[in-house]
Amino acid sequence: MTELISKLEIKRIHHYVQKIQQVTQRIDIFCSALLLQAWRRMNYVFNRREIHSSLKRRQGNCLRCGRCCHASFKCQHLEYDDKGLSLCKVYDRKPLMCSLYPYNEKDYFFHLKPTCGYKYDDE
Ligand code: SF4
Repeated sequence: MTELISKLEIKRIHHYVQKIQQVTQRIDIFCSALLLQAWRRMNYVFNRREIHSSLKRRQGNCLRCGRCCHASFKCQHLEYDDKGLSLCKVYDRKPLMCSLYPYNEKDYFFHLKPTCGYKYDDE
């Protein structure tokens, strides 16, 4: 009986540990996404020419997963069509920073880099 209780306790503790890991991972993603958004804007101000040059090396296509549009906060202009592909409600006049993503090999939300349709040569 005591053994059963301790097994149940261990299971419950394991469950809580998993929940804590999930929450900390979400916080980590959220904070790093916010930092990247600040960094990429500041970097653009100081390295505009270099960024437009590195964009010429960008390969691939946007897969319209929409994940970069809610890397931290969900963009208010993001919608999905009936096939589950992202749609930007202001596509024709979307912010420059959105069109430029990712503008070089460092300009990725770290959790999205493996699945993004855009790639750079030296990756
Ligand atoms: S993460 Fe990459 S593939 Fe997905 S919507 Fe953004 S740019 Fe497109």
